[in-house]
Amino acid sequence: MEKVTDNVYTLLNTRGCNSSFVVTAEGAVVIDTPMVPADAKKWREEIQKFGEIRYVINNEPHNDHVAGDCWMGGILVAHELTREAIKHNRQEVLEGQMQWMAPDALPLDKGFHYRLPDITFSEEIKFHLGKHTIHIISAPGHTPSQTAVFVPEERVAFTSDNVTMMMPIMIDAVPEEWLKSLKKLKALDIDKIVPGHGPVCDKKALDVTYGNVEYITGELKKAIDKGWSLQEIQEKVTFAERFPLMPGDPMKMMRHESIAHLYEVLKK
Ligand SMILES: [Zn+2]
Repeated sequence: MEKVTDNVYTLLNTRGCNSSFVVTAEGAVVIDTPMVPADAKKWREEIQKFGEIRYVINNEPHNDHVAGDCWMGGILVAHELTREAIKHNRQEVLEGQMQWMAPDALPLDKGFHYRLPDITFSEEIKFHLGKHTIHIISAPGHTPSQTAVFVPEERVAFTSDNVTMMMPIMIDAVPEEWLKSLKKLKALDIDKIVPGHGPVCDKKALDVTYGNVEYITGELKKAIDKGWSLQEIQEKVTFAERFPLMPGDPMKMMRHESIAHLYEVLKK
């Protein structure tokens, strides 16, 4: 567990996404949840030492961010389209992810179930707990329903996978909106950003992500303009110039799925 600011803590390097919480005078607010049931249950006990879990927020519907919701309690809050997307999440896909990230979590705990958000919104929503404001803002990008949680009193934002120092995953991305959302996040008065994966960063990560989203989109536009088929693009375009291929190419599937999705988006 890492202390991010006076009242913000995050659990990095879970076998899933970063899960964070804000401690307020009226209980804790959790942002994203650990994917592995045993990790999520342990994390809930940790959080409860600081206060009752009042709200749980999902910034995106991907399995690695929402699968732990069922162990957390609290009122679940998310964008209305995230709620729709969670309805289509599949347990087989989650089990597939666990097979390579956390094989010891299989067979999956019998208590597992997807939770649908109790409260939804379309543009933004604010909670006031003690002296803290929890401001959730629509920020489409990594997913169409992506949001960011901004806590002005702590000068921190939680962006999930909209901010990354690694190769942006674009399997569900809306690239044009992503760039706009990054600009919107840049206008926030913050010192720290907790991304969906990897270490806590600052506003510089917004520029890095912006450049990388632009780079990937640009490379694909060039390939499409050459008249290459999807299969040809998947074979020839690896983005290795910026993201060197690792031994065994573990990102191959994610890269291919990102390319297939963007191919459809950009051809329009
Ligand atoms: Zn994601």
